[in-house]
Amino acid sequence: MSGPGAERIVVVGHGPAAHRLVERLAHHGHRGEVTVLGAEASAAYHRPLLTSVLDGSLAAGALRLPAPPDGTRLRPGVTATAVDRRRRLVQGSDGHGYPYDRLVLATGAAPLVPPLPWARRADGRLAPGVRVLRTLPQCEQLTGPDPVAVVGGGPLAIEAALALRRRGRDVTLVHRGPYPLDRHLEARAGQLLSARLRALDVDLCTGRTAEAYRSGKLRLDDGRWVAAGDVLLCTGVVPRTGLARSAGLAVRTGVVVDDELRTTDPRIHALGDCAQPAGATGPHLGHAAAWEQAEVLAALLSGSPARWTGTHAVLRLRAREVDLMRLGTPDGAEETVVLSDAARGRYARLSLRDGRVSGAVLLGPGRAVATVTRLYRRGEPVPADRLALLLGAPIDYAGERLPDEAPVCHCNNVTGADLTAAWCAGARTVPELAAATRATTGCGGCADDVRSWCAARARGEESG
Ligand SMILES: Cc1cc2nc3c(=O)[nH]c(=O)nc-3n(C[C@H](O)[C@H](O)[C@H](O)COP(=O)(O)OP(=O)(O)OC[C@H]3O[C@@H](n4cnc5c(N)ncnc54)[C@H](O)[C@@H]3O)c2cc1C
Repeated sequence: MSGPGAERIVVVGHGPAAHRLVERLAHHGHRGEVTVLGAEASAAYHRPLLTSVLDGSLAAGALRLPAPPDGTRLRPGVTATAVDRRRRLVQGSDGHGYPYDRLVLATGAAPLVPPLPWARRADGRLAPGVRVLRTLPQCEQLTGPDPVAVVGGGPLAIEAALALRRRGRDVTLVHRGPYPLDRHLEARAGQLLSARLRALDVDLCTGRTAEAYRSGKLRLDDGRWVAAGDVLLCTGVVPRTGLARSAGLAVRTGVVVDDELRTTDPRIHALGDCAQPAGATGPHLGHAAAWEQAEVLAALLSGSPARWTGTHAVLRLRAREVDLMRLGTPDGAEETVVLSDAARGRYARLSLRDGRVSGAVLLGPGRAVATVTRLYRRGEPVPADRLALLLGAPIDYAGERLPDEAPVCHCNNVTGADLTAAWCAGARTVPELAAATRATTGCGGCADDVRSWCAARARGEESG
């Protein structure tokens, strides 16, 4: 066997977590062979931008992530079907065995289909017209013109409903809770969000469940029939753990890992949506955690010490019509500032500990969302004028450097180093930087950062 930094690595899965891991292995100088088995036929793509394909604003090809480093052995369309831990061999659906020194499970998560009798056929497949949204082919099934019912009340349900509206489809959102995002938002914010969705022509049916689906109509539990050529289930995800389980690794909701992302077999690691840190109630779902875990694991597999200590997770709605963000927790706050402005559809709750953001809910304006997110992620003190902050007053970041290796644009995985490279290649304005790197083109939360960075660079060039 080869030593640390030169081991033969097999990665199972080729989603954002695996893609980032492979890129960072090269960055850290890993010298061993890296093989990636990906069940999907296409090259790795940026899953959070699927709703931009859904609304027609991006072509499917625009989601593709950059090609992996030279020498990476990619096996698209190959599913890992078994792991022989004794022989350290992964069995592929192509009939090949893939030997490893280290195995990384990046199998992600699959849509959770609740046990609704109308949602599946007898053979277990989804009933005609019933859809889920996790992959590009599933996205392409949703481009018809008919009215659509979206079932669910989480971020994906709202983003999908708004994307389908933008595409011109009539949309009904059916949610059993009292308002969308009821697991994330206090009631006042939820009411304002509901009003905003209705103003955007989303037919909102809250406190309702769907009881039957036939002939293009969905029946709700109050007897109402809703026209729905498609029913899109956005009812959660379930980590893909089958491979780990059958290999005898410890699995709870996700594959259990320690702070070095090791499973109960020290030669096998897991990261991203399939991995559950020991002691956590479930996986840290989401792009930010996947990225940070990839960074830690790449360092470790390249022979450098690293630990994963958790992620500053931020829920941000990816929809240009609604600027909504929730982060941290209100628990244990020493100071709470609440602003509720129903006439303009704005709501803000800022929870502070030690003068820093410990939790927040913000429904518009965009600049406040971006600034509070930034203060939270960096643990910086909040300005004395809390109200001005919540109303979106700009903060001067002049002269400040953006971190080279950490993401600036979380939607598109753009780092400070990527922006610098684009600048050096001639991009001098925010639109030019956006065209070169895709920064600012996702939720827009990094727009202020990129604008200030761009202005500071320009000043630097002038004075230099
Ligand atoms: C529409 C949409 C919007 C989203 N928006 C956001 C957002 O705004 N912010 C956010 O943080 N997150 C968002 N997410 C979630 C985000 O996409 C996931 O957290 C992220 O994709 C997790 O990456 P991953 O690589 O761990 O898993 P995945 O992206 O699920 O990729 C896993 C890959 O492994 C493959 N695979 C599974 N089993 C095997 C096997 N046995 N052999 C070979 N290959 C296998 C799968 O086919 C898949 O391609 C969104 C998701 C969707 C669908």
